[in-house]
Formats: sequence, structure tokens, C-alpha cells
Amino acid sequence: MSKGNNWLTVLIVIGLIGGCLFGQFVLHNPSQPITDKHWTKEVGYLILIRPLMMLIIPLVFVSVICGVTSIGDPSKLGVVGGSTLFYYAATMFIAVGIGAALVTTIRPGDLDEESRDALIDQARSAEVEGGSIARNIAQAKEAKRDTLGGAWMNLVQQMIPSNIIRNMSENNTLAVIVVGLLFGLALALGGEKTQPAVYFFNAIFDALMRIVKWIIWLTPIGVFLLVAWTVGKIGLGDLAGKWLKYVATVLIGLFIHGFIVLPLILTIFSRKNPFRFMWQMRRALLTAFGTDSSTATLPVTIDCAENEGGCSKRAANFVLPLGATINMDGTAIYEAVAVIFLCQLWGIDLSFTEVLIVMVTASMAAIGAAGIPSAGVITMLIVIGAVNQSLLGRGVEQLPEFLIFVIIAVDRIVDMCRTTVNVWGDAVGAKIITKLAPDPETELDSA
Ligand code: ASP
Repeated sequence: MSKGNNWLTVLIVIGLIGGCLFGQFVLHNPSQPITDKHWTKEVGYLILIRPLMMLIIPLVFVSVICGVTSIGDPSKLGVVGGSTLFYYAATMFIAVGIGAALVTTIRPGDLDEESRDALIDQARSAEVEGGSIARNIAQAKEAKRDTLGGAWMNLVQQMIPSNIIRNMSENNTLAVIVVGLLFGLALALGGEKTQPAVYFFNAIFDALMRIVKWIIWLTPIGVFLLVAWTVGKIGLGDLAGKWLKYVATVLIGLFIHGFIVLPLILTIFSRKNPFRFMWQMRRALLTAFGTDSSTATLPVTIDCAENEGGCSKRAANFVLPLGATINMDGTAIYEAVAVIFLCQLWGIDLSFTEVLIVMVTASMAAIGAAGIPSAGVITMLIVIGAVNQSLLGRGVEQLPEFLIFVIIAVDRIVDMCRTTVNVWGDAVGAKIITKLAPDPETELDSA
């Protein structure tokens, strides 16, 4: 572990704490809330998110090609790919299970009448006011991504791209991964003829990771500004108010999954100390917390996993980009808790089958959520739609969509925490898959 990395960790932690304090004590003013256009957010995006996002498409493309070509053998690739997808599905289903069990036991939506009415009134006026998330919701509806069928069609279309250049320019990572996989496989099977291209992509990967190492030094100031904006907008006081039980339920779920379930899985399958690995991944986890985006964090995740966490290039180059796109354990917990919480708040008692519907659709909504801030709120419309469909069958009043604004009020802070668990889930996957696909030089270490 290098001295530079230790310094960087200290600076990021200072950035996070400083951002909280600055946001709470300097920016937060309930009578004059800061807007989406506040300078802290604008500058934070300018100096951290934009440079990281600039690298995403080339990095995903090249990293998948390098991962696939280094695995080489298609049957081994099949085993690695299959195990990765199984890991994603299993951990996400455990995650929604935890979320559903907690929210039905704690029942955060059973509030006294006054708090309940206040939350609902606030949601009504927030819907009228609009804002960036409301605009994203409207866009999702227009593109018919708010229904299960529409969202899956969208995923399938990304998996069968017709114009990769357009997909790249639209930041469609899934399409880029699919083309990277095909291309990597073709290069791996090309033998001597394609070997120069394999060297070429490995060299490009190396160069991209060097740029990542430079950009990473912008993380402390970037997370300072982004966290200051988030806390300044929402205010930590709100978390202790009417939202307390809801936020606490999500956080307990994230804690159980992040500190108990995933470490246990890692211990069972890789026989490594999970907390040591968590420490090795600290820069990625802190960046995820500060940026709210697993996609923007991806370059840092790859850097930590390969250079500190002992993950093989074969596993990490393939598992992490795919994970940042579809594996979202934190989002899965959050979707389950949030929808059942809203039902409780609206006085709807869900049957066991309906809770199961929430669990299944919440996993799908998490898969469909992009790794960007507040993406989970938008795909939650899918879960609400599915629940409403089943309530219709029972003749029970449906959940009005404007209620989603109840949770949007505190979403950014919850998002910081769930994004951290999303990235942690990807990292644990990469570490486990390293066992199946070690690099020649790490073979001894992971044996
Ligand atoms: N912000 C999350 C991520 O980037 C997605 C979400 O739950 O909104 O992983």
C-alpha cells in the first residue's frame, strides 16, 4: 500500500467530513433551499464527475476486451460469466429479502397522523414544483421505461446494439460491454494474427489507468463540494425528523448486507479476511459515497481492486464494469424498503404475494437502474406499477405516484449510502471470481 494512497484516503475523509459541515452550517437554510444549479454542485461535477465520466466508455470497452482476451478459452469464459451472473442474482435477491423483512418488521410508514399528513402534503407540493428528478421521471415515462416490459425492452435493446457509436455517445455501458465481449472473444480466438491487437488494447488499458491515477487526486475536493451540496440541500436535521424511521430502516439493511452478508459470502468463497479487503477498497467506497455514482466510481474501483485488493485483471476487468451497470445490492434493498414504506404510509396492507412481487420487481428495477445519482428512484416506478397492478386485482386503492416525492426529499443522502454498498458488492464479486480466474502472476496469492 503506497504512502500516496494513504494520503489520498485521509484527504478524501477530510473532504467528506468538511463537506458535511460546510453543507450543514454554511449552506443549509430551510427557508431558502439551495437549488440544483448551486455552484457547489456545478463545480463538483466539473472537476470530478465529468473527468471520471470522460473515461468510462473507453475504460469499459478496453477493460472488458483485456479481461476476455486474458481469459482466452471460451469455455472458461462461460464458467466465469455464468458464475458472475449467478453471484449478482443471488446477492441482489438476498438484499431485497433483507429490505423486505426489515420494512415489514420495523414498519417505518406507521407514523402519527400529523407527521403522515405533513409528509404527504410536502410530497404534493414537491411534485408541483418539479426539479431535476421530476424531469427524469417524466422522461422515463415518455420513453416507456416506467413499466417492467418497457424497462426490459430497453435493456434487451442495449444488449443487441445496432449502432455502437451512438450507444457510446449516449453512455450506454451495457451495449459497450456486449461489443467488448464479442470483440475480445474474437481477438482471443484469432491466435497469432490478432495478438498485436491484444497487446495494443493492454497498452491502452495501462495508459487509461494512468489517467485514472491523476484524476483520483481530484476526489477530495470533488467529494467536498458534492457532499456540501447534498447536505446543504437536504439538511441533516431532516434525517432526524419525519424521515427518521424510513432512513434508519434503509441504513440498517445496508449495514447488514455490507458488513455481515457480503463479508460472510467473501469469507466462505475466497477464504480471505473481508475487512482487510474492505480497507483495501476504501478509496473506491469513499468515492462512491461522495459521488453517488457507481459508474463514475468505476475507474477508482478498478484501480483499487487490481492494485491494492489483489483481484486479478481477468476477473476485475470483466466483473467490475458489468457490476457497475447491473449489480446493485444497495439499490435493491432501498427499492424494497421504499415501496413497502410508501404503501404503509398510504394505509395499504400488502399481502405476502404482493411483498413477493415487490421483491422480484425490486431486483429487476435495481438491475435496470443506471449507476448514476438517483437512478433508483426512477426505476422504482416499475415496482410501484407492478404493485398497483396486483392491488387492482384485489380492488384495493392504488398507490399514487406523487408519493414518490416523499422519499425524493431525502434521497441524495440515502443514495450516498446505497451506492457505497453497490460498489462494495461489485468488489466482493471481483474478489470471489479471482479465485476462478486468477492472473498467472496472482495465481499463487489467490490459491
Ligand atoms: N446511485 C446509485 C448508483 O450509482 C443508483 C441508485 O440507486 O440510484 O449505484
